[in-house]
Amino acid sequence: MSSALDNIKVVLVGTTHTGNIGSVARAMKTMGLSQLCLVAPKTPPDGQAYALAAGASEILAAATTFDTLAEAVADCALVVGSSARSRTLSWPMLEPRECAELAITQSDKPVAVVFGRESSGLSNDELQLCHYHVCIAANPEYSSLNLAMAVQIVCYELRMAFLAKRPAATAVDEISYPSSAQMENFYQHLEAVLHHTGFIIKQHPGVVMTKLKRLFNRARPEEAEYNILRGILTSMQRLEKVDSNTHKE
Ligand code: SAH
Repeated sequence: MSSALDNIKVVLVGTTHTGNIGSVARAMKTMGLSQLCLVAPKTPPDGQAYALAAGASEILAAATTFDTLAEAVADCALVVGSSARSRTLSWPMLEPRECAELAITQSDKPVAVVFGRESSGLSNDELQLCHYHVCIAANPEYSSLNLAMAVQIVCYELRMAFLAKRPAATAVDEISYPSSAQMENFYQHLEAVLHHTGFIIKQHPGVVMTKLKRLFNRARPEEAEYNILRGILTSMQRLEKVDSNTHKE
């Protein structure tokens, strides 16, 4: 299924360590991203890269390679460059969270998040190809994260922004609950079985059913759980050869 995250590419410029490329693929997959672009890597993905990609090898295998950053981002309407330090030239800056919200909002067209070389980051020319710069707030005395870890943080924020923007709470909407009438049938069914087992004595029913109703109201069983409960009662009746109807009054 295609999602906003499929339109956001991670671009690695001039990566030296192939292991980092593999770790980036893994970081991306854990957060649901899949589009990896490599710009003039020192070495193309090798065994070390695949070893560190672990279960994300298909992202490595599908990675596209370009000679220049300009070519890699040519189709993108939004390009964000990441940098560990503020350069002399000031540029619109984003926090990772703002960067993710913007990227998800504008993901109807391809978006690129660009990461630099392990040794020297992105050049000024490369940074100037970006609409915004994103900086992960880190220890000012030691602010340079490992490449794949920087990618992981940005991709995590992208995932959070993506989840927040999904149509309102589909997961909750999808749950269906039994009607009051169904629950009433269930209570009658339960009571019949409890009479049969002798847990409830017909002449002195006490407050057991009231307490059980309160318990099930609190738990608010879903339709599937309700069906399980009914199934359990029926299986008990089958075992005991009880006809629940004979216990309904
Ligand atoms: N020594 C380089 C940093 C290299 S780290 C320098 O001083 O620029 C490799 C890449 O990881 C960086 O180019 C950047 O894309 C990303 N990165 C590392 N730490 C980061 C941070 N704190 N904020 C944003 N990106 C970061």
